[in-house]
Amino acid sequence: MRPPYLLLDVDGVLIPFPDADGAGPASHTRHDVVPIDRRSDNPVTVWLNPAHGPLLTQVIRTGLVIPVWCTSWRQDASTLIGPLLGLPRLPYIDLPRPQITTSHPNGYLWKRDHVDAWLGNAPVIWIDDDFTDLDHEWAAERTARGRTTALVQPDPHVGLLAEHLVEVLAWSVLLPVAQTDVPAIPHEAEAG
Ligand SMILES: [Mg+2]
Repeated sequence: MRPPYLLLDVDGVLIPFPDADGAGPASHTRHDVVPIDRRSDNPVTVWLNPAHGPLLTQVIRTGLVIPVWCTSWRQDASTLIGPLLGLPRLPYIDLPRPQITTSHPNGYLWKRDHVDAWLGNAPVIWIDDDFTDLDHEWAAERTARGRTTALVQPDPHVGLLAEHLVEVLAWSVLLPVAQTDVPAIPHEAEAG
């Protein structure tokens, strides 16, 4: 059984919303990055917590989840944001670029339909700051259909905390136990 996906948002998760002065929390460090669609003389300022790199690395090294970026940063998450935290180049979901003025154009997160199709039947734990009640209903319905789905929702003004990743690990440790119960029986019979 493949491990579940861990979908990772960037804005509001790794990059908290700035304060009134445009700065990030004291825990975060300023970087200027140049996304792939911008000129080098027009960088974007981001605030990242250097502690997030080792925390995420520990989660990735467990092998309990398959980390995938799920963010409007798209490949820039893999090539710009992740490396600033010391992360390897992780895969990313190539989200569409809808012309929208809100992140909930239909009352739920704009990424969701694309993610739903991308996931197929795969189990997932998804960290994003921007879920609505309809997204939580979607997760519950998906889980009820046997596609185990968990949403983790940091406060966008604070961003990702260690406790969110503890939640990811606690969830993923329990998941394979139930799912590998059945295949384990014929394997034991062969051995005996
Ligand atoms: Mg976000």
